[in-house]
Amino acid sequence: MSFVEGLQCRECGRRSEARAVHVCEDCFGPYEVVYDYAALRRTVTREKIATGPRNVWRWADLLPVDKPVTGFHSGNTPLRRADRLAEVLGCSELYIKDDSANYPTYSYKERVVSVAISKAVEFGFDTVGCASTGNLANSVAAHAAAAGLQCFVFIPHDLEQGKVVGSQVFGPSVVRIKGNYDDVNRLCSEIADKYGWAILNVNLRPYYTEGAKTFGYEIAEQLGWKLPKHTILPVAGGTILPKVHKAYQELIDLGLVEDSNGGSRFYAAQAAGCNPVVTAIEKNIDVIVPQKPRTIAKSIAIGNPADGFYVYNAIKQSGGHGASATDQEIVDAIRLLATTEGIWTEPAGGTTLAAAIKLIKSGRIPKDESIVIGITGNGLKTIETLGGSLPDSEPIGASLNEFDRRLNGKASIEEAVLAGAI
Ligand SMILES: *Cc1c(COP(=O)(O)O)cnc(C)c1O
Ligand SMILES: [Zn+2]
Repeated sequence: MSFVEGLQCRECGRRSEARAVHVCEDCFGPYEVVYDYAALRRTVTREKIATGPRNVWRWADLLPVDKPVTGFHSGNTPLRRADRLAEVLGCSELYIKDDSANYPTYSYKERVVSVAISKAVEFGFDTVGCASTGNLANSVAAHAAAAGLQCFVFIPHDLEQGKVVGSQVFGPSVVRIKGNYDDVNRLCSEIADKYGWAILNVNLRPYYTEGAKTFGYEIAEQLGWKLPKHTILPVAGGTILPKVHKAYQELIDLGLVEDSNGGSRFYAAQAAGCNPVVTAIEKNIDVIVPQKPRTIAKSIAIGNPADGFYVYNAIKQSGGHGASATDQEIVDAIRLLATTEGIWTEPAGGTTLAAAIKLIKSGRIPKDESIVIGITGNGLKTIETLGGSLPDSEPIGASLNEFDRRLNGKASIEEAVLAGAI
């Protein structure tokens, strides 16, 4: 049994029972799930959590679901101490929360999808869908297949092949839209209305977004029930950052962690070619001006983020900041993370690391305090973003002689060809 009391509008406070609706009927503000926190305080303890499953449902008491139907292998991703990367950046306590290892489709989206699909089934939907920049589509398609649901995913036409195939293989209807994510999202609102399907990040959005809290709960437990001083996360639609902020806040309110050394600061990372939230943060104005995205970081290329304003608030409340990364900086950061820590992330992760580097170098994030960098997706789906930036390896003949030459670099490949060795 869940502790959900219902929905509440974040703007005007209007209450509603829990149902498949995401905007307030009075003011069009977003609905958010509210819980019986007094009851949660009596129930949820570190000891009880420790006996829970090692997946997103470890946090079931803090999620809006009565009966999970999927996600039994999602979540519980590594929090890795990243000493080799820390050495390069000159900082003393650096961690990577690594959702490139999330199962089954290797991104943070497993968290939100596990919750939203379970809720869709609870509400009696037999068809689910989403508007997506790729990873959400992959995750919805996989979880829907496993749960035996009809599935439609809507994506911009120009996504990386790994993201397109990574949906198609699970057998949903993949609808590619001639437009960017914001066009896809607008269409999906109309489709949710007309066809009455569960579009996870539209009419099930209040439940979907709650799943993102598990990223933050896991960090706290993995740090031994402590919060990091600094948390850097990418921003696309603006779900994960304010929800991890909410997760930390809930853990403090429930007495599960101490609110030590003045709270935890949050930092937003965006690509320079699509940075409406970081721009607002830097200008110190709480109005998010939409942009037309132009970046290799397609998974976070959302020019008009639904929850951008709440990202802004979480950043300002916590005393954090934001930073943007150019395409070149994103690629360099992907390679740095891979070569120092053995983690291959996609451009969203490259963006987050590149932003973290800027914030650390500029002194915004002190080098001697605990830092968590949120890595949200896997590089295997976006091979093309590294195209041309990696050293090409010309083949050699299968002879020790040729290998010796390659190793000591005395002969170039061209010389080897001329000598008839290749
Ligand atoms: C969706 C996504 C994000 C963040 O999206 P939000 O809408 O801001 O929660 C970050 N990284 C990757 C790889 C994603 O797919
Ligand atoms: Zn309202």
